Amino acid sequence: MVKLSIIAPIYNEEDNIKLLHQEITDAVRGKIESYEIVLVNDGSKDRSAILLNELAKSDPAVKVIHFERNSGQTAAISAGLKQSSGELVALIDADLQTDPRDIFKLMPYIVNMDFVNGKRVHRRDTFVKKVSSRVGNGVRNWLTGDKIYDTGCPMKLMKREVADSYYLYEGMHRFLPTLAKINGFKVIEVGVSHRERQHGVSKYGVFNRAFVGLMDAIVIGWLRKRVIHYQIKGQ
Ligand code: UDP
Ligand code: MG
Repeated sequence: MVKLSIIAPIYNEEDNIKLLHQEITDAVRGKIESYEIVLVNDGSKDRSAILLNELAKSDPAVKVIHFERNSGQTAAISAGLKQSSGELVALIDADLQTDPRDIFKLMPYIVNMDFVNGKRVHRRDTFVKKVSSRVGNGVRNWLTGDKIYDTGCPMKLMKREVADSYYLYEGMHRFLPTLAKINGFKVIEVGVSHRERQHGVSKYGVFNRAFVGLMDAIVIGWLRKRVIHYQIKGQ
């Protein structure tokens, strides 16, 4: 069992892969006893698969998983969580909009909490994306009844028990902090840095995210209300 697993979902990110590996390695090497980098190729159609296999050959800390076909970001994250073995698990997007060094901004909080969600305080995205994200978070909080400032922040750190508690469905990678709370874990949000996407393109538009996300938020709100609480007598 390694101390830390860093997991990234990858769909057509050929121009980010080398840099991603470099930045993660520079960030964690020497700072943690042992680590693995789990890269989940979600059926990329560009050169990502080839580049990932090269990386796995050259660095024993890299573990690569290839999907047969594009199956979605939640599927990629779910497979990464299941195939990883770290006592702690960090999630990051392959586009490097969040900085792998910020894992260590989150790390001190994991002592008393179970799940630390990054919070992009200064978003470096297009105006449309910033506004839709702000509205999205507001609507999500209203529908789920939870209070998460930035549920979609790609940088997250959790204990193994949290990763093992998830039973994810499509789209639910957007609700990981709320789902952790539903599963009985302590969650906190901590500020991380954010930068513009340097290579490749976003895989989502405003609409394919908003409408599906709305239905999902209703379901999460329902789950949250139906959590069962009980205490066995005499314990
Ligand atoms: N991604 C994936 N499968 C998909 C869509 C996206 O694995 O079907 C990955 C993508 O490569 C990236 C992360 O999920 O690492 C987030 O995607 P993106 O950066 O396009 O989303 P945004 O940051 O624009 O919300
Ligand atoms: Mg991104």
